[in-house]
Amino acid sequence: MKTFEELGVAANIRKAIEEMGYENPMPVQEEVIPYLLGDITDVIALAQTGTGKTAAFGLPVLQKIEIKENVPQALILCPTRELCLQIAGDLSDYSKYIDNLRVLPVYGGSSIESQIKSLKRGVQIIVATPGRLIDLINRKTVDLTNVKYVVLDEADEMLNMGFTESIDEILSKVPESRQMLLFSATMPKEIAKITKKYMQKPKEITIGKKNEGTSTVKHVYYMVHARDKYLALKRIADYYPNIYGIIFCRTRRETQEIADKLIQDGYNADSLHGDLSQAQRDYVMQKFRVRNLQLLVATDVAARGLDVDSLTHVINYGLPDDIESYTHRSGRTGRAGKTGTSISIVHVKEKGKVREIEKIINKKFEQGGIPSGEAICEKQLFNLVDRIEKVKVNEDEISNLLPSVYRKLDWLEKEDIIKRVVALEFNRLIDYYRDAQEIESPSDRSSRDDKSYPRRKDRERSDRSSGGRTAERGYSRLFINVGRTDNVNPATLMGLVNDYVPEKVSIGRIDIMQNFSFFEVPERDAQKVIKSMSKQEQNGRRLSVEIAQGGSGGGSGKDRGGDKGRKNFSTRSDIGTRRSSDYNSPKHSDKSKGRGGKGRKPKYS
Ligand code: AMP
Repeated sequence: MKTFEELGVAANIRKAIEEMGYENPMPVQEEVIPYLLGDITDVIALAQTGTGKTAAFGLPVLQKIEIKENVPQALILCPTRELCLQIAGDLSDYSKYIDNLRVLPVYGGSSIESQIKSLKRGVQIIVATPGRLIDLINRKTVDLTNVKYVVLDEADEMLNMGFTESIDEILSKVPESRQMLLFSATMPKEIAKITKKYMQKPKEITIGKKNEGTSTVKHVYYMVHARDKYLALKRIADYYPNIYGIIFCRTRRETQEIADKLIQDGYNADSLHGDLSQAQRDYVMQKFRVRNLQLLVATDVAARGLDVDSLTHVINYGLPDDIESYTHRSGRTGRAGKTGTSISIVHVKEKGKVREIEKIINKKFEQGGIPSGEAICEKQLFNLVDRIEKVKVNEDEISNLLPSVYRKLDWLEKEDIIKRVVALEFNRLIDYYRDAQEIESPSDRSSRDDKSYPRRKDRERSDRSSGGRTAERGYSRLFINVGRTDNVNPATLMGLVNDYVPEKVSIGRIDIMQNFSFFEVPERDAQKVIKSMSKQEQNGRRLSVEIAQGGSGGGSGKDRGGDKGRKNFSTRSDIGTRRSSDYNSPKHSDKSKGRGGKGRKPKYS
């Protein structure tokens, strides 16, 4: 392994990075730095985030800047404002001992005037998000004609975010003689197009295999029924008491829901998604960075700007649609030489996707078994014991208090004290898991011999066959495959109708059952509701809406005739039943709004 000195890094830069704790170059630095310091023109580097790429391009670029020329000489493009700030901050740290070197971060969402002022004063390096840079180009406040070095960082992300045209436009303003460096975690076709168009005989450097996940990441999947995904998530979080991770969800709505549920269940969690204001996002990210938050529930897009090195876990609450997103998600753990685990909570139908991902990342997933209640309690207990052993005791500060504490506990034996400390921490967890049903894996349904609980299917059957009810006159009674187990209540059910049916629909009677529900809508709207809601997702579970037996109320009964796959279900009338008129109170509207995200008003009349 070479040293930074042997790679040609100048002494004033070495001094700064040594102070930052960089003793030896990371592999990407060892590969890239000599090329950029030498004469080779363009470089494509396939490297995951967290591999040390900022220094790989940053150190040589800093070294090549002509300090006396007070004009932009290097341009670094990146996808998000957070990454932009991070890169600019790193460059400032690396150039601590280079006098008069100015780096300017240029990004949307902050005052353009102050950025213009700084440009007028003169900068040598611009780190920019494409949108804001175009804005500055259009205002003729930035001159790129002296740019000699262009870096496209996280190029695949920039393309994913739709910046292709902006990049084209920006590059057309930069002299063709520039040296160009492109970093990407993956190599989709679109990147190949860019490299062909803009780079001259680029040197291709791959850190790890092409499109391979970082080798320090272990990939594990847990197979559960879709309805058990949330319970499985809680168990995983409980099983790793020191977890510090991001839970990726597919939609903003799901993100908010999962975060809300986790918070309600006592977890140190919060959400990050595009419905939050920039200030709210900054606040949550900061809390997470400083580890005041253990679990961040996020969408892919919102989590992009977050750069944290020490995540223990990334949890995929369902697999993402495209494999590149998986690579990006899992690449957020196992960084900077640490190990990490990428957990995927998947349902049976996603098994094929797991195999596809394995092929691309060239690594096998392990299949995890959802931890039993007993295993979780044991793990938590040993974690507590470990904390007791390792806690730093500030003798001086508590010495005054200790004598009276000793006196008070004098009548207890050491073993009794230990038992009580454990009970203090554990009673809630033990109570919860004592009563909790173990989560059944789809693959071991037949082998399960737990007689203490009726199988979920059996319970469901008995629910479905109890009692009978027909719809009100002029209304159709619809069956939907989510119920109390899915945390559905009348408000959430109305929220779902509201979200997925494009037009206003009035909702009549609602019956929430354990694993499914019924609700009534005017006959004329029934097919529209069925069509709009079926195949949508609620907490990763695909919705199925159909007309229930006896589904039409006293009126024409036309729904009954046209109802192919109708279920022979009827409802028990004693649980969860309310009439629509119950829902008109303001209190209820608030509840509905709170659960499903912002500004959702019930459409019922
Ligand atoms: P990056 O991929 O540039 O975001 O870097 C990932 C992390 O590794 C950052 O926290 C860097 O500060 C750190 N890092 C980069 N290069 C080195 C090095 N040579 N030695 C130790 N840490 C490094």
